[in-house]
Amino acid sequence: MPFNTRKITVIPGDGIGPEVIAAALKVVEAAGVALDPDIQQAGASCFAKGIETGVPRETIESIEKTKVVLKGPLETPIGYGNKSANVTLRTLFETFGNLRPVRELPGVHTPFTGRNLDIVIVRENVEDLYTGIEYMQTPGVAQALKIISHTGCQKIVELAFEFAVAAGRKRVHCATKANILKLTEGMLQHTFEEIAPRYPEIEAKHILIDNCAHQLAMRPEQFDVIVTTNMNGDILSDLTSGLTGGLGFAPSANIGNGAAIFEAVHGSAPDIAGKNLANPTAIILSAAMMLRHIGEGAAADDIEQAVLVTLESGIRSGDMPGTAKPTGTIEFADAIISNLGRESTSKGARDFRAVKIPAATSEVQVVKTQSRRVTGIDVFIESSLQPAELAEGLKDVVAGTTVSLQMIGNRGNTVYPVEDDRSVTLVDQYRCRFMKQDRNDNLTNAEILSLLTKIGEEHIWMHVEKLQQFDGVDAFSRTKK
Ligand code: NAD
Repeated sequence: MPFNTRKITVIPGDGIGPEVIAAALKVVEAAGVALDPDIQQAGASCFAKGIETGVPRETIESIEKTKVVLKGPLETPIGYGNKSANVTLRTLFETFGNLRPVRELPGVHTPFTGRNLDIVIVRENVEDLYTGIEYMQTPGVAQALKIISHTGCQKIVELAFEFAVAAGRKRVHCATKANILKLTEGMLQHTFEEIAPRYPEIEAKHILIDNCAHQLAMRPEQFDVIVTTNMNGDILSDLTSGLTGGLGFAPSANIGNGAAIFEAVHGSAPDIAGKNLANPTAIILSAAMMLRHIGEGAAADDIEQAVLVTLESGIRSGDMPGTAKPTGTIEFADAIISNLGRESTSKGARDFRAVKIPAATSEVQVVKTQSRRVTGIDVFIESSLQPAELAEGLKDVVAGTTVSLQMIGNRGNTVYPVEDDRSVTLVDQYRCRFMKQDRNDNLTNAEILSLLTKIGEEHIWMHVEKLQQFDGVDAFSRTKK
């Protein structure tokens, strides 16, 4: 092995994974990059061996050393473990940013051909509903926690702008649902607005996620870079890969401070696995992103150009529309290899600089406030009573204490007090809001515990949320009428 080889971890993965990974490694080698792949396992075979997370210790140790992974798709077999091996890897190495670029490709005809699409979704990759914290509140009501932190927003927004600068991009959209989720999705919008002025050369725009989806179907050419939360990004990035030819062409990079994982967006495609039918373009373009990440930009450009030249030659993989005989996985890679060193007639190589990745810190991140106090609590109660009956009971419970019952909600609707006799479908989970009578006073832990004890004597409560004010501003959602 030559001295200057770059060690990387390679996870062939499941289904078509080993086939497309072999194709990608062949192309990288032919492009003249001396890699020393450390082949490791994760996914279905590991779940089958009883490894709960789907990721064995040796794989984790390899990534800790190499810090760079080229990964095939991993199945999450139903019936083993609780988590997907992909989520385990992203969480373990805190790959907080998921870059998913798509662009119009020659010979890959779509309804958008001719619009020259060139879009990158920058998806927050570790927070949001994907923390996977879920509870059954009652046998019939489930709840998931959407966790969004200011630090998480800062890191993803900075990554989006740094990527835009490095890749010579002009515009960054921030797509959120801040009109409804003012605190969680709103935090990404506010953080975006805080950080955007540091990048005056990049046009910064906020867009609501639903409008973004609509605009992506109507006028996708207006988008350049889109930064968004985890779930929104998951959905939007599959949409954007559909705009430009489908999953077989969509690469991705999971960027973290300690490690980066490069993989195709597609899954293990069990329907075509082992048949030499898979399109290797997505993983080959992911490998090019990896090469750029490890400082092999010239080889990355060469591979991207060879992919374009190959597509310009009229080659067709099985997932492309058309009647020409489909080219097999390995033959497709061979065609790309034969075009290394040639330049595309449709798109020149891009001028990339290294992306500056937001720094990590081991200190606990704290947003400081001048003042704070607890003004009340929301207690979630399981009950089959009608709202008015429940309210009467709760008023008796809190009589003589420092709090009063302000309202009762059910699935987001205020059901007590109500001014009209609207009928809403009630479920057995009620949110009961108790406020401190003196709004300038702090509701203490002792008061809360005594209140919960009293409520618990009469009702089943599941969870409690403190209603806080930070710097005089309510830090909780208002109740809906
Ligand atoms: P999939 O992406 O595997 O397949 C969807 C369709 O696209 C199939 O018809 C498939 O044949 C086709 N397809 C996908 N990649 C292709 C390629 N390179 N060339 C040609 N055709 C291709 O999605 P799925 O069927 O929903 O998932 C299958 C498994 O993959 C599941 O276990 C899922 O959990 C897993 N998965 C893993 C990842 C990952 O590891 N990042 C991502 C998505 C799905």
